[in-house]
Amino acid sequence: MKINIRILSLALALCASLALPAQAEDKHDHSKHKVSPKGGKLLEKTEPHAEFVVEKDRTVTINFYNDEMKPVAATTQTVTTIADAKDGKAKLEFEKKGDSLVSKTKLPEGDGYNVVVQFKQTAEAKPQNIRFKLEMHTCGECKLAEYACICEH
Ligand SMILES: [Zn+2]
Repeated sequence: MKINIRILSLALALCASLALPAQAEDKHDHSKHKVSPKGGKLLEKTEPHAEFVVEKDRTVTINFYNDEMKPVAATTQTVTTIADAKDGKAKLEFEKKGDSLVSKTKLPEGDGYNVVVQFKQTAEAKPQNIRFKLEMHTCGECKLAEYACICEH
């Protein structure tokens, strides 16, 4: 009987030590790779979280989410996007449409060019510049457009 208990507790300890690292890794992954609800790019250090989505017609939509990734309405935020395309720079202005901000014009043709999103939390706030490369092909691993890819390449 005593031996059985010892074996049992040893088995439990083994299970616990095996289960713990797996859990920790899982938690780590979730915080690092946040998938945005519409498959766009989450803009860092925005509050609420802003998501940059290139629509099929190449207009851009900015959606907002709280920490639980539930949609929230745009309030005082303003966004301008500069697309540094091969044929020259294009500036996209945004207007409020429903809960989101929508670009009045489209992104220039092609991809692989740099984009700068100028994000202002309020009219008085200092603008934040978020730069990234616009790559529209689908990533083979996460199945998102490359500009929104969450893999660690
Ligand atoms: Zn990916």
